[in-house]
Amino acid sequence: MKVLNPATEGVVAEVGMADAAEVDRVVERARRAFPAWRSVAPGERARLLRRFAQVVEDHAEELAQLEIAGAGHTIGNARWEAGNVRDVLNFYAGAPERDHGRQIPVAGGVDITFQEPLGVVGVIVPWNFPMVIMTWGVAPALAAGNTVVVKPAEWTPLTALRLAELALEAGIPEGVLQVVPGAGEVAGARLVGHPDVRKIVFTGSTEVGKLIAAQAAAQVKRLTLELGGKSANIIFADSDLDRAAASAPMAVFDNSGQDCCARSRILVERSVYDDFLGRLSRAVRDVKVGDPLDPATQMGPLISAEHRERVASFVAAEGVHTTGSCPDGPGFWFAPTVLAAPAGFDPLADGSGAFHRAFTEEIFGPVVSVVPFDDEAHAVRIANHTAYGLSGSIWTRDVGRALRVARAVEAGNLSVNSHSSVRYWTPFGGFKQSGLGRELGPDALAAFTETKNVFISTE
Ligand code: NAD
Repeated sequence: MKVLNPATEGVVAEVGMADAAEVDRVVERARRAFPAWRSVAPGERARLLRRFAQVVEDHAEELAQLEIAGAGHTIGNARWEAGNVRDVLNFYAGAPERDHGRQIPVAGGVDITFQEPLGVVGVIVPWNFPMVIMTWGVAPALAAGNTVVVKPAEWTPLTALRLAELALEAGIPEGVLQVVPGAGEVAGARLVGHPDVRKIVFTGSTEVGKLIAAQAAAQVKRLTLELGGKSANIIFADSDLDRAAASAPMAVFDNSGQDCCARSRILVERSVYDDFLGRLSRAVRDVKVGDPLDPATQMGPLISAEHRERVASFVAAEGVHTTGSCPDGPGFWFAPTVLAAPAGFDPLADGSGAFHRAFTEEIFGPVVSVVPFDDEAHAVRIANHTAYGLSGSIWTRDVGRALRVARAVEAGNLSVNSHSSVRYWTPFGGFKQSGLGRELGPDALAAFTETKNVFISTE
């Protein structure tokens, strides 16, 4: 597989693609490494994870540059991502010594629970945030005593491969963390079907997530699914419109819109709709799109020519309100685009027009659709009128309304008067068809362990 630099279309590297037999060999190594890894004393496992975090820190700039070259991320984002990998490893380095069981009062004996590791865990990663999404699965899985096989996305295997090397350098034993690049339908599917893989953490499209869930069912394989989104950014008339409009573009165009949490539907209270649209347009025209290596750049290219074609298919003449700028020439560039609801558009009705498609489907590119709403109840109905439920934002100065709407919107990660979604120490995941289970936060180890109950008679 040729890895292309999305900003230049130049070849960055060529990577071999594993077939099913190679996946079997990798899983076998992971299976053999498991008994020794789970037996490493908690304090020692913690020390090794901290050491891994330190080695990542020592190579942070190298990892960031790899993500820029191989995935087109802006330098600001790529450096943040390398730091996030370090932080997530450090956070879960605290977990092995806190992986407590319980002692439950019973008659005639003592009842205790243990959190047992699962065995081999498969982590299947998408191309949009390659190193961070890999680490959200890897760090808690290793902390809990599992061994891990990562299948990176076809287009972005480079940082995953490097992280596996850095793990070895940090002293994590051979076979405990392996990376196997390959096609989803071949290497990914084999990982899902392999009887020795006890759990799959899958982040990617809802379409593939459903397929994996169906396959995993045959073995009652444990699953965490982080899938698509079509999140709402709800702007009430009483909000700080300056801040709401200034922050709305990057809430969807960050990482060129290739973000599962992108607030790609903006819902605006009708009385301030025109005012907000004007402010938003000015902000979108100011978004700096260009060379990912320039620290002033806010948005880089899309991942590939194929993906750019798909994104472009959502931008028909109907509804285009504002188009920002982007470079010409080589690179998979796409200008940030604002679509506004055509007159008479009903966001709660079934439809088939171009705007309806853009407003309902996950575009995964720098395209945002804006619609007006009448009141709080209408806003909530529109926000929930989707199969997805990952993220969203609520802009209002009324704290009661902020809480009512936050409770009513069916999504896993909401923010009020901000667009933050992901902190490694708080839980992350989706409602409805955006996912199953939660990653990150204080409880992530529960997703990588089984609870075992043991009764000991004292009679
Ligand atoms: P994708 O579903 O096409 O691929 C994801 C991964 O699955 C890749 O590694 C791919 O090779 C593999 N794969 C494909 N077919 C497979 C199969 N049959 N069996 C096993 N593995 C298979 O997704 P993508 O295009 O790489 O990523 C974009 C999608 O990911 C978007 O829908 C986005 O919303 C979603 N995403 C979700 C989150 C979240 O946390 N909820 C985060 C990032 C991305």
